[in-house]
Amino acid sequence: MSILRTDRKFDRFEDVTPEVLKAENVKLLLCDLDNTLTERLSREPVDGLEEWVKSLNKAGIKLVIISNNIFKKRVQGFCEPYNISCVWWAKKPMSVHLTQARKVAGVPKKNTVMLGDKWSTDVLAAKFAGIRGWKVEHRKSYMKEQEK
Ligand SMILES: [Mg+2]
Repeated sequence: MSILRTDRKFDRFEDVTPEVLKAENVKLLLCDLDNTLTERLSREPVDGLEEWVKSLNKAGIKLVIISNNIFKKRVQGFCEPYNISCVWWAKKPMSVHLTQARKVAGVPKKNTVMLGDKWSTDVLAAKFAGIRGWKVEHRKSYMKEQEK
């Protein structure tokens, strides 16, 4: 069913540049955490993440992390240094937290995208929320592939 289709696919979050987002008229990017921005449970700073967040800020694109991770400490601890707002235990594919974050940001559905590595949580939640769902490759397997 085309309504359940992933709207766009990228290799990694760094490919979702302000230019791409502007061309797609995105003003709010809802973004998964584990395996999208970083390897699951990794506490290592992520190369390029700070620059990416800054570039979105500069372009006036809002960013909110919507994570299914149940640990507030993990999600908040990750996001704080980058000054990114976040939701933990979001229960995707339920769309309630996506919609709530979108309403808090005051951005219409048509200008909002959910980005994540998993169709069954991230993209499906986007569909339930009536917004676009974009997919990146699972970060760990993608990075391993690049090392070969
Ligand atoms: Mg994920």
